[in-house]
Amino acid sequence: MRNWLFLLAVIVLMGVVYNRFNSNSDTDLPIGQTKNANEMPTEENSPPANELTFRIDADQVHQGNLLLVNEEIAVPPNHADAKAVNLFKHQELVDGFGLLDNKIRLSPELTKQFTTMIKHAALDGVKNFLISSGYRSDKEQQALYDQLGPEIAAVPGHSEHSLGLALDVGSTTAQMKDAPEGKWLKQNAWKYGFIVRYPEDKTDITGVIHEPWHIRYVGLPHSAIMQANHWAFEEYLDHLKERKSITTILEGKTYIVYYFPVASNTTLHVPTIGNYEISGNNTDGVIVTVFDIVN
Ligand SMILES: [Zn+2]
Repeated sequence: MRNWLFLLAVIVLMGVVYNRFNSNSDTDLPIGQTKNANEMPTEENSPPANELTFRIDADQVHQGNLLLVNEEIAVPPNHADAKAVNLFKHQELVDGFGLLDNKIRLSPELTKQFTTMIKHAALDGVKNFLISSGYRSDKEQQALYDQLGPEIAAVPGHSEHSLGLALDVGSTTAQMKDAPEGKWLKQNAWKYGFIVRYPEDKTDITGVIHEPWHIRYVGLPHSAIMQANHWAFEEYLDHLKERKSITTILEGKTYIVYYFPVASNTTLHVPTIGNYEISGNNTDGVIVTVFDIVN
């Protein structure tokens, strides 16, 4: 897609660190704000007008699009089924792709994100997509695990499919590793907020064999940052934790992604320079994504 050519100009500016949460220093200001010599360091109990203060409770660590699930980190207990619906019974959601069977469930929201992506693939002449698996309950994952074994299926409670944010995508013409659909996803999924979660050269990090068919929704700008830096999801979350924030520009729009540790109920201080989205990382903190930034 021509529009997306602009995305090739993704610039990831690393290490714009917003230290306020972890220190008393106000010397590191986020992009978009200029330091004013007349502004004195502020007291913790009197937040400045240009700062948003909000409470985060511990549950939020386990909610959102950026939850990490792998062989060590489980799907949060009592995780809802992510509003998954049976796609076969909701044909209005099935547009431009096939279904392997009549049991596939996926949330309407995720299905729409997927549809937006493959409509762009169709414009590139790639149009033989098939969804072979969507949301799976722990019980369904157990059945799969019993059938396929630990080499192929994740241990129940440790599958991204049970988060409701992953799906397996096939091609009606060939195996995904060879099919145009697999190649297209590898090159383009990031533009639509998806990642090919288990790449060939990251098996030592993900702990999972190469799965060109398994895509995971994380949203923008996260997928773009991972693509630009060639990071697996685990690596992205580690870098974010280490750097505290990552700033990126996508199609001329600036995004700032912050990591905040959350021990229990926590108060966050974020500059009021745009709109926000919050997701837990499923281990020890939340990620605040600031977008629509007014410079
Ligand atoms: Zn999968």
